[in-house]
Amino acid sequence: MRTLVLFTRDLRVHDHPALAEATRSGPEVVPLFVRDPRLEGRAPNRERFLLESLADLDRSLERVGGHLILRRGAVVDETMAVARAARCTAVHVASDVSSYAHRRERALSDACASDGIELRVFPANAVVEPGRVTPAARESYRVFTPYLRAWSQVPRRALASAPDRICVPAGIALGPRPDPSAVRPRSVDLPPGGERAGRRRMHAFFGRELAGYGASRNDLAADATSRLSPYLRFGCVSATEVSFRASATPGSQELVRQLAWRDFFLQLLDADPSLAWGDLRPTADVDGLPAVSDVAFDAWCEGRTGLPLVDAGMRQLLREGWMHNRARLVTASFLTRRLGVSWPAGERHFARLLLDADPANNAGNWQWTAGTGTDPRRTRTLNPVLQAKRYDPTGGYVRRYVHELADVEAPLLFTPWKDPVLLARTGYPEPIVPVNA
Ligand code: FAD
Repeated sequence: MRTLVLFTRDLRVHDHPALAEATRSGPEVVPLFVRDPRLEGRAPNRERFLLESLADLDRSLERVGGHLILRRGAVVDETMAVARAARCTAVHVASDVSSYAHRRERALSDACASDGIELRVFPANAVVEPGRVTPAARESYRVFTPYLRAWSQVPRRALASAPDRICVPAGIALGPRPDPSAVRPRSVDLPPGGERAGRRRMHAFFGRELAGYGASRNDLAADATSRLSPYLRFGCVSATEVSFRASATPGSQELVRQLAWRDFFLQLLDADPSLAWGDLRPTADVDGLPAVSDVAFDAWCEGRTGLPLVDAGMRQLLREGWMHNRARLVTASFLTRRLGVSWPAGERHFARLLLDADPANNAGNWQWTAGTGTDPRRTRTLNPVLQAKRYDPTGGYVRRYVHELADVEAPLLFTPWKDPVLLARTGYPEPIVPVNA
């Protein structure tokens, strides 16, 4: 028995069911990652994180006697070429939800069938795999609360152990080594990619920070969330493992609930790939708003709207390739419900920069905010001044990212336009649209 394990966005050795099963079935394993050139160049932040994660995975495999084989090209063709050359009898791959992943799995299934190779698809990405719970007469839940109720009842799979020995058959070319320094990211302050960095973050969060999570997850200045999302996005850390650890830690229901949101959007996209680009529930809610100019959209992207909380969020995104959830809500609400820009434009800007961007959670959350997705509610429009007063009352978050306002105290920090001398002194812009304060 010789198994090829095709890594996709499950870049880890801990709790990796496809890898664990491959090593159980026989000593010889071919760990492979194929870089698809069609996906390159779109999001340098994520590309850098991906290469760091691949280098880290290679090191983890080396520690148990193996290494990662790399190829660049059409994923299925390259996989089959390696599988044939290495005379593999099985291919293991993780299930995934995007239309790209569905097409890949179908093509792999056809190719394996015609070569007489067994294809096995394993869970990897979600806590509860899409399709495990469905409402009556539908393929997916569209409202979160009943989903959460059903999701909570599903028995969890056991965590898979990391392999202690891997033997890669000799004679397979290693392929081009990952070189993170070859990619220039757009953001200057990115966290390192890879399983080891992700596990360090997870241990630090569970060790010290989780206690205050429920109370402070919306406190922008406290920065008290896990920041695990990039590691979950690339599968450097397993969502199932995070959920196990959370379930065993008192006071962590709120974290488990956030993981359920993640699964909620995964199951929606799995059932309907068009969620990534089209409205789940088209609505006329934002009709009637004047069309916004490109200048206003650019000001939003660059964090120059004159609304301090919006600008802080957008500048955090530019700087760190990540944004606090509360700031994502405020910036997305401002764009869609105050500027009247349709959500895909904002979603694309986020996707260019976010390390954690994935079609399910990015589009799903954008639609939720815009009121065209799950749980649509007209009253969800968030006023950036009131949100700042509530979630950044001391102004610590705004001052961290909007340096022109670094010496301005609350409450003037929430409405700097009320002091024209301040604007003239700092060069901070007037608001691009009036906002009730
Ligand atoms: P924590 O608060 O520590 O939560 C733990 C984990 O739960 C997160 O890592 C994430 O995997 C999951 N989670 C938390 N909130 C949500 C949520 N609302 N929806 C789905 N999963 C959630 N999240 C992404 O992972 N990718 C995206 O592309 C993405 N785009 C977003 C776009 C908009 C407009 C909004 C409003 C939210 C978006 N989110 C997205 C959700 C959320 O903002 C991030 O998951 C969260 O900020 C990540 O930080 P954290 O890891 O510290 O989260």
